[in-house]
Amino acid sequence: MGAHRINSMFRVIRLDVMLIAIIVSLSMPSSIQPPASGQTVVPNAPFKIVVLPDTQHYAQHFPWLLKLQTDWVASVSQSQNIVFVTQTGDIVENWDNQTQWRAADIAFTSLDGHLPYGIAPGNHDIAPDGTSPYFQQYFPLERLRNPATARFGFDQAAVAPFGSHGPNNTYRLFSAAGKQFIGINLEFCPTDDTVAWLDQTLTKFANYGAIITTHSFTSASGDRETASHSCQVWAGPGQNAATDIWDKVIAPGQHDNVLMFLSGHDIWSSAGAARRTDIVNGYPLHQMLSNYQEFKLGGEAYLRLLEFDIDKSVLNVSTYSPLTKTFKTDADNQFSLYIPFSKRFDVLTKQ
Ligand SMILES: [Zn+2]
Repeated sequence: MGAHRINSMFRVIRLDVMLIAIIVSLSMPSSIQPPASGQTVVPNAPFKIVVLPDTQHYAQHFPWLLKLQTDWVASVSQSQNIVFVTQTGDIVENWDNQTQWRAADIAFTSLDGHLPYGIAPGNHDIAPDGTSPYFQQYFPLERLRNPATARFGFDQAAVAPFGSHGPNNTYRLFSAAGKQFIGINLEFCPTDDTVAWLDQTLTKFANYGAIITTHSFTSASGDRETASHSCQVWAGPGQNAATDIWDKVIAPGQHDNVLMFLSGHDIWSSAGAARRTDIVNGYPLHQMLSNYQEFKLGGEAYLRLLEFDIDKSVLNVSTYSPLTKTFKTDADNQFSLYIPFSKRFDVLTKQ
């Protein structure tokens, strides 16, 4: 079962999806202000970000399905106004299997020079000693500084790495529908210095809407992953689980610009998805798990489409398979979330 939650910062209140829908419908009108006299309304076409959930079983057994996903994304990128692709980690099943890395390498060539993308290496991509030599070999910074980014208003120089971790922790800046965004990809269970870097990066780019992808964050039950449930099992003690990232970076209330956390890893949702929403500083912060690796064919090529409708203050989430050419239409995989883009960016542009 998937889960939907909405929580205040200090109180945990579980509500079903119907109540979230009511909140959305009640909240939306106040965020849509009529234009001032003489002001021209410029419609902002919705744009999309694609999420590629855990691809490890494709790389291991069905490399053609991973290629099918990236080929499909590339083929519809213009017609669907796709501006960014983020992979949630566990690119491969076995961190030291170069056949699997080559499968991923080949698949992502469909995006190279075409669409900007970020990858958040997962536990399966990292060696027992914490290094990630093959991820760094196949997806070096030069590759993530995708030449195609200029077409989308990306700042290539801003595809910045963090210290010795190389490409494991990166961000990129982009603009779409007249707003500024930062896509941050963090490695699995990041270290203290990486969490500090995240904190500093969110401060540095406080007027950018932040979309953060890290492999393990939201669990199948809609909780934030704890160290004992994720990091200590896979990465050893001393790493930061979702609860730690939340406590250190989000809970202090210093960042109003985080729109969402995207993650994979947890396999225990029969729907392949779960989510929760917390209200932080008065703004909803959405946390979404998607992971279909336990489905047939390693995931049936399901991927996520996040449609940002700025004018309506809505994020429309759908889940599509370019293999079966069908959408998953259950409530865990097709839904809309309220994001007060206008209100929020009005606040942000005051800086
Ligand atoms: Zn994992």
